[in-house]
Order: sequence, then structure tokens, then C-alpha cells
Amino acid sequence: MKLLVTGGCGFIGSNFIRIMLEKYSDCEIINLDKLTYAGNPANLKDIDNNPNYSFIKGDICDPHVSNVAMENVDTVVHFAAESHVDRSIEDGSVFIRTNVLGTNTLLNCALDSDIKNFIHVSTDEVYGSIENGSFAEEDNLNPSSPYSSSKAGSDLLAMSFHTTYGLPVSITRCTNNFGPYQYPEKLIPLFITNLMEGKQVPVYGTGLNVRDWIYVDDHCSGIDFVLNNGNSGELYNIGGGSELTNLEITHRILETLGKDESMIRYVEDRKGHDFRYSLDCTKLKKMGWKPKYDFKAALSNTVKWYVENRWWWESLKQ
Ligand code: NAD
Repeated sequence: MKLLVTGGCGFIGSNFIRIMLEKYSDCEIINLDKLTYAGNPANLKDIDNNPNYSFIKGDICDPHVSNVAMENVDTVVHFAAESHVDRSIEDGSVFIRTNVLGTNTLLNCALDSDIKNFIHVSTDEVYGSIENGSFAEEDNLNPSSPYSSSKAGSDLLAMSFHTTYGLPVSITRCTNNFGPYQYPEKLIPLFITNLMEGKQVPVYGTGLNVRDWIYVDDHCSGIDFVLNNGNSGELYNIGGGSELTNLEITHRILETLGKDESMIRYVEDRKGHDFRYSLDCTKLKKMGWKPKYDFKAALSNTVKWYVENRWWWESLKQ
């Protein structure tokens, strides 16, 4: 397999590249990444010299760069995105540029290349909030934030390239990821590293908003499964099956690091904060995929990783 990974210097993309190179000795990977604030070459420094890996610094919005990156590949796994909801609330412009226009550029380049499989990596946030029950793949999109709206736009666009031009596109929509190499602005690494620095952790509103958490390796294995078993024109929900309130996850992190409730600081709620995300993952389950990591063990491994890898996050936080 000759694979183009976009956004491979980010959190999930870098874990995905490492996992794929370990699993498939015949897998060649090109990583196209602009190296925004969220893209960090240090995430892949252990595989820098792997002969099956190469890196192109470039912007997915640039058709020339994207065309060159696709020249000799048969598969695209598209992670590159602006991904932080709070930043999108401050200013959504770059989210529209990268997530919508950048995806459009890649899809157009894929039409001109001999791409056999294009996986567009998306999020549960496109379905919006749900009080009870869970969203299945055929449910309507109802995004709330500029981030999730830009992802919903890119999902619709990706599917339109399948319907209109027959491009072999499929979409994965995953729940909240956690694990090593996640930029320390996201809840879990922010809270772990704040506590290590003796700082309080900021919990939005009442802390009762619910998210489903998945260990990043499980998300990557779900994408790998879709690469091998999915059909073009199809959507696949990928969930971890670990729904927790923000307060519950905060308590688990506090416990793991031996801290108490005095380290919690309640802050004004996020604007337009979705109450609960939940995915119905029956489709992938019936096809034979399910997450394998136990949430508790994966969370303590993650805490351990941040404790042991201060070098990685300290400079990012400054
Ligand atoms: P991230 O912010 O950690 O990484 C994004 C990467 O994309 C960075 O390396 C960045 O440099 C690169 N990038 C940004 N703009 C680019 C551009 N214009 N051209 C080329 N590269 C560019 O994000 P992540 O958390 O790893 O998420 C990856 C993908 O997975 C995103 O599409 C996101 O929507 C999706 N997703 C994330 C989660 C999650 O919990 N983190 C859950 C579901 C889906």
C-alpha cells in the first residue's frame, strides 16, 4: 500500500503513521503537513529514518503541493484539519480554509490521480448534541460550533465527490480521542500537565457535559479496518464506548495523579457547548471491528506518558 497521510505531524495522524509502519512492512507512507502550531515533527522523530516514510512540508490548500504528494500513492487518509473548538469560537476563518477548502483541493487532486481509496477522517461532533440515545450513520448533521460546521461541510463535500464523480471516498466519524502526543490544549493533556505543574484544571460550566472517549490506538485501528473492509460511498462511526461527564473524567485524572478536588476551578461555560455526543457503532461492530483498549488502563498509560515525556509538552505549553 502506498499511502498519503495528511496532517501526519498532529496527534492522531502521527499515532496512525507509527502504527501502520509497525503493522505493515510493505506500507509506504508520505506525510503532507503544513506544521501549524498543532503539527510537531517531534511526534515522529523515532521513525524519521524509516525508509518507508517520507515527509512533505506543505499546505493541503495548495493544489500544486497536493498534486505532487498524490503522484505515487494509491490511498489517502486525510487527517489535516484545524481541530480545536475553542479556537474556532475565537475565529473560524482558518477552520473554513483548511477544513473545507483544503479538503476540496485534496478531493480535486484525487480525481486527477489514480487514487483507489480516500478516507476522510471526521468527528462525532458533526451530528451535534443528543440528550438520549445515539446517532447512527444515516442521521442528519446538526453541528453547533464553527469547528464542527467546517467538518460537516467537508463531510458533505467528500460524499458529493463520490456521488458526482465516483471518487472512492469513505468517511469515518470518531468520538473524543486521548493518548500520547495530543497537543496540551485539549482536555486530557491540559488537565494532566496542569496538575503536574501544580496548577488547577478549568472545568466548563457544571462539568456535566458528556463525551465518549476512545484511546487513539483504537481510532487508528478503526481507520485501518475501514481501509481494508470498508466500501466507498459509506460512512462509519468509530466510538470508544466510554461515555463520561467532564467532571467524571476530571476526577479520574485527579485520582491517577493523587490530587484532590481543590484542584478544580469551574469556569464560564463554552459558548454553544454541546451537552452530549454519542455514537451508535453497530455498523462497524457487525463488520467485525470493536475497540480493544480498556478505558481505565488506557487513561493511566496516557497519564504515565505525559509524566515521562515532559520534554515533549513543556515547550508547547510555554
Ligand atoms: P491536530 O490538531 O492534533 O493535528 C492536525 C494536523 O494537521 C497538524 O499536524 C497540522 O499541522 C496539520 N494541518 C493543519 N492545517 C493544515 C493544512 N492546511 N495543510 C496541511 N496540514 C495541516 O488534530 P487531531 O486531533 O490529530 O485530529 C486529526 C483529525 O481527526 C482531524 O480531522 C479531526 O477533525 C479528526 N478528529 C479528531 C478527534 C479528536 O478527538 N482529536 C476526534 C474525531 C476526529
